[in-house]
Amino acid sequence: MRFSEFQVDKIKQSANLYERICQHTTLRRAGRQYSGKCPFPDHDDRNASFVFDPIKNTFRCYSTECDRAGSIIDWMMEFEGFRSFLDCIRDLNGEELVQNIGQDNERKGPVYKRQKMEDRIAADQEKARAAGYRIFKAGHALSGSVAETYLRETRGLGDIGLPEAVLRFASDLPFWAEVRKGKFEVVHRGPALLAAFQYRDNRFAAVHQTWLKPDGSGKAEIVLDDGQQLPAKKIRGPFMGSSLRLGPPAPIMGLGEGIETCLSGMAHGLSCWAAGSLGNLVGRGWVHGIREPHPKRIGQRLPTTQPDFTSVRMDLPYRLRSAIILADSDSKDLDGLKAELERAVRRARCEGRSARILWPPLGMDMNDWIMKERRDAA
Ligand SMILES: [Zn+2]
Repeated sequence: MRFSEFQVDKIKQSANLYERICQHTTLRRAGRQYSGKCPFPDHDDRNASFVFDPIKNTFRCYSTECDRAGSIIDWMMEFEGFRSFLDCIRDLNGEELVQNIGQDNERKGPVYKRQKMEDRIAADQEKARAAGYRIFKAGHALSGSVAETYLRETRGLGDIGLPEAVLRFASDLPFWAEVRKGKFEVVHRGPALLAAFQYRDNRFAAVHQTWLKPDGSGKAEIVLDDGQQLPAKKIRGPFMGSSLRLGPPAPIMGLGEGIETCLSGMAHGLSCWAAGSLGNLVGRGWVHGIREPHPKRIGQRLPTTQPDFTSVRMDLPYRLRSAIILADSDSKDLDGLKAELERAVRRARCEGRSARILWPPLGMDMNDWIMKERRDAA
């Protein structure tokens, strides 16, 4: 039996990928999606890089060293060891399913369903954006706060002008997490640094939240009852395609993933914008792009350096002619990161800008680097 693309889509959509993943890892709700530690045995994931998307019914590991993604079929073949596409379809009762497709009327057709899905996603995103805006609006001025202590003293950014319009402070911000399936609780509360993402038209997009220790001596440690440590950073709102504008638009600018990285670039006299995530910094790779073998990890491939020009990534100012991409040399997989950043360089060049990557000394991120410089000078 042969299956049409539409029939295969239908089979993929009906399969319970969530259940199958849950047998191997704990997924927690994170906004519209679920995330957890990557279940692939060759990936020792400590950061919950693995995401399940219930609307698309797909999975993706955001770790550069793993980078696995796909549908239920990909999951079955890569994780569960199914040998062929047809074996997967049979196991999913695909033949039975497609026999019922004919009964679908037009209102249940794929175009109608996709439109409904997109409407729902847009409504969810607008809700998250509004919630993020309320958090940011409720924040206080940075100056004199624990967040200022964190940036100026703990991060060694003492003398730079901090962008007060985009950075704010929350004195007692709750941190919500899914402690059991469907059960959300405030697992931590405390001071936090807030930062505003903006779209090209200046509109507020999302709030970046970094929870801090009460004295500002570092990031808060947020540990669940089962011992899992959660990252002390969260973004609320649809931030993809927007930027954290830490400095003014300029012909030469630094672009980086994190706020601390970019502020460290500013300490070097460079105006910087932050992307908030690697994905928003570099954009997606072309699906059919060439992926070179990983030089250190046998059997794995690097992310492609060929950009998908239609994919969303951070907004850049028109004035920007020359981009300096601020890398983290303390990444676990430098080869993977290098490939992703190369992709951002290629995309910038195709857009008529020059671009290059600035690597701090091995084992350091931008902030470690300026802290070291400061210690050496003292
Ligand atoms: Zn993984």
